[in-house]
Amino acid sequence: MLIQGDTGDWEVVIGLEVHAQVVSNAKLFSGAATVFGAEPNTQVSHVDAAMPGMLPVINEYCVEQAVRTGLGLKAQINLFSVFDRKNYFYADLPSGYQISQYSQPIVGTGSIVLDMPDGSTRTVGITRLHLEMDAGKSLHDQHPSKTYVDLNRSGVALMEIVSEPDLRSPEEAAAYLRKLRAILRYLGTCDGNMEEGSMRCDVNVSVRRPGEGFGTRTETKNVNSIRYVQMAIEFEARRQVEVVEGGGQVVQETRLWDTTKFVTRSMRSKEEAHDYRYFPDPDLLPLELDPDWVEDIRRSLPELPDEKKARFIEQYRLSPYDAGVLVAEKASADYYETVARGRDPKMAANWVMGDLFGALNKLGRGIDDSPVSAGALGGLIDLIANDTISGRIAKEVFADMLETGKSADAIVEEKGLRQVTDTGAIEGAIDAVLAANPDKVAEYRAGKDKLFGFFVGQVMKQTQGKANPALVNEVLGRKLKG
Ligand code: ADP
Ligand code: MG
Repeated sequence: MLIQGDTGDWEVVIGLEVHAQVVSNAKLFSGAATVFGAEPNTQVSHVDAAMPGMLPVINEYCVEQAVRTGLGLKAQINLFSVFDRKNYFYADLPSGYQISQYSQPIVGTGSIVLDMPDGSTRTVGITRLHLEMDAGKSLHDQHPSKTYVDLNRSGVALMEIVSEPDLRSPEEAAAYLRKLRAILRYLGTCDGNMEEGSMRCDVNVSVRRPGEGFGTRTETKNVNSIRYVQMAIEFEARRQVEVVEGGGQVVQETRLWDTTKFVTRSMRSKEEAHDYRYFPDPDLLPLELDPDWVEDIRRSLPELPDEKKARFIEQYRLSPYDAGVLVAEKASADYYETVARGRDPKMAANWVMGDLFGALNKLGRGIDDSPVSAGALGGLIDLIANDTISGRIAKEVFADMLETGKSADAIVEEKGLRQVTDTGAIEGAIDAVLAANPDKVAEYRAGKDKLFGFFVGQVMKQTQGKANPALVNEVLGRKLKG
């Protein structure tokens, strides 16, 4: 995206740091549970509360999840990595340090392919992925003068996924987050639920003249929806352009996203920045992975969005855009494949992406609780394919299916919507229409071809839309001729 300033164009440069909560029943260094929404301080072990003398024990499953994610991001898996202590004081961090990975993370460089709305793709670099523990939560709104602390989140495993400063617009940042979330969900390593905080994003933004070196960045912390990420980038980029064009300099600092005023605000400048005094955690050995174990995980990876998209294009002859929309969520991809099996794949795609998605949107429902199952939608398409009903009637039947949950077959039988393919009945209806409109017949025969559509419409009206359109056209053509 280019911003037009008073002194010329500016390019926006964006890099994202995503904190993704690992799907795991237990925490990174303790056996305490991780269920979201539990009563405060009911899922806290002595390790999570940092009782003196307690020792962390690495949760192998969380390591496996991080490796699986790294493989899904086509990234380098580091067989040797180190846990460090990141020291800072805060009420919700009882140990006074966070266990994280610093100079030797478990996953190195990788990449993510973005699917842009116009159907094009773009590759963005991943710098690294490291494992770390989450802190507890300070609750400022429970008491007029006190802050409460909930340690349920203390010690929950996070993956911090850092992108290269490769993104150039709010839309690209959104596409990046959508794709990353899709990959994590396909892998089952993070539920990607931004409202519950299981995916949070730090947004780094700078501006520069096109073609010049990078400018100074600011980092806006903990933005918790894709829309807010886009808004924060937009605001921050324009603010920086104003600062620079006003003769000032952008200060490297940490900022906050204000969700009521929709602005970013300074939180702390570089001078006030923490000195975390990182050093290797003496309670934990370096993490050494067995290459065979990593290979086993690689072999067990599911088909991921990019591969599924390529297969849909090849197998079902879908456009890259359609395939991209269908694979964005695994549930939609599975739904589509059930509908398409043994049927016309393009027709299946039209019904799923057009009628079904449109209806779900209106109902505010996800594909997981669609009132029409994939099997039921397939049944409806079959009735069109075998000429039991016309495409027009099918739309009505579909609306009925949404409302009643009944099968297409049942609705067609109940309402007598079966298409009339009996030539005798169609001829009867046509004769009646022609007899009722002798003047129009004469005009048509005198060369007013356009009237053909009028006759078709009348015949359809006579038959309540049930006449087979191809037959109507054929018989009508014959009768009008002579
Ligand atoms: P820090 O710990 O200071 O946040 P990280 O290395 O964890 O540093 O993350 C830096 C993030 O900032 C990365 O996502 C990177 O792509 C991004 N970044 C670096 N330089 C720039 C820049 N000039 N403009 C925008 N983003 C940048
Ligand atoms: Mg950072």
